[in-house]
Parts: sequence; C-alpha cells; structure tokens
Amino acid sequence: MFPSLIATPEDPVLAVVAWVGLFAAGLVYANLAEWLVHRYVMHGEAWLRLRWVWHRLNGDLPETARSFSQWRFGEMGKAIPWREANTNIRRHMAHHGAAKNNGYVDADFARPASERRHQRYETRNTLALAFGHFPLAWLIHPAFFVAIVVDFAYVVYLHKRSHLDPAWAQTHLAWHVDHHMGAEPDANFCFTWPLWDILLGTRRKG
Ligand SMILES: [Zn+2]
Ligand SMILES: [Zn+2]
Repeated sequence: MFPSLIATPEDPVLAVVAWVGLFAAGLVYANLAEWLVHRYVMHGEAWLRLRWVWHRLNGDLPETARSFSQWRFGEMGKAIPWREANTNIRRHMAHHGAAKNNGYVDADFARPASERRHQRYETRNTLALAFGHFPLAWLIHPAFFVAIVVDFAYVVYLHKRSHLDPAWAQTHLAWHVDHHMGAEPDANFCFTWPLWDILLGTRRKG
C-alpha cells in the first residue's frame, strides 16, 4: 500500500472515511492556498504603493485614480500593454484592468492558452503550484494531495469560464465578481468558495 504518514485503515469502511475526510481537509487547505497566493503574490507588492505615492506627489494622477485601489486596478490595468505585463503582479493588474473596464469580461481567456497575453501563464503556474505539493502525498496522505490538484484545476476552469460569461459568474462565482467589480479589490481572494475570506474577514459583498 502507498506509504504515508497517516496510514489508510485496513477496514474498507474506515478506509473510505479516511479518504473522504483527508480529501475534504485537502480542499480546506487548498482554499487557504488560493487566499494566500492571491493576497500576497498577485496583490501584495509594496513598491506599487510607493509608485502611487510618487504619482500623487507629482500630481499626475487622473480623476479616476484618486485612491491607490482605483489606480492599481483600473487606470494601471488600462495603461499596461500586455507585452509589458511581464511579472505576475503586473499581469494580474492587467487582468483586473481588462475586467474592470469591460463589465467583468476578460477577452484574453478566449484565446488558446499559448496565445494569451496577460493570462498566458495562469494555467501553467496554477497547475505547477498544485503538483508541487506532491510530497504531501507521502507526508500526509494521497487523498490530501489529490484534493489540492482537483481544487487548483477547478480554479483554472472557474476563472476562465467566469470571465467569458459574466451572467454565469454572477450565479456561480459571485465572490470573484465582487473581487473585480466591487468597491474593494483587496478583498474576496478565494476562488472556489469563500471559506477563508469569511474566516479571515476579507469577504466583502458588492
Ligand atoms: Zn485579484
Ligand atoms: Zn479574475
């Protein structure tokens, strides 16, 4: 049998209970990983705030970019051509700009993955992050690792589908619509379900 820190019980009923329980635990962990990566990797660079202060001191911010958030998620996204969006955070801001200025639609998702502009590496990076957790199949349990891969693959599917179909997104992924179109873009970081946003106080409706 597959050796892992948490051994699967011999009894078949208990084995199923163990798989289901550890799979659920993996989903809860993956949901926290969604929150952490989105919050700290995609949204978290301090130098952007310094740049905004610099623009503010120079008085060259447009009327529509009075707050840091407005500048970062609206004006800056609009201003960055895709070929300049060469870091994860800039690509993500370009994604926010596209969605914010186009009624939540980001047409970049309509291209084949290899021809996408700012969304080009999302599938690759997300799946790499998921499969990078493979030691947990031994350190914890295979069910835990499988749940992480399933969760992150679901993130890739949900993100693409939602940004091509805003009406569907409003019904199935309202927290991500709030993330892009709501008053507070530095909130609603979870993708698959808003568990950790609720627990950590970053769920904002509307
Ligand atoms: Zn975001
Ligand atoms: Zn999005």
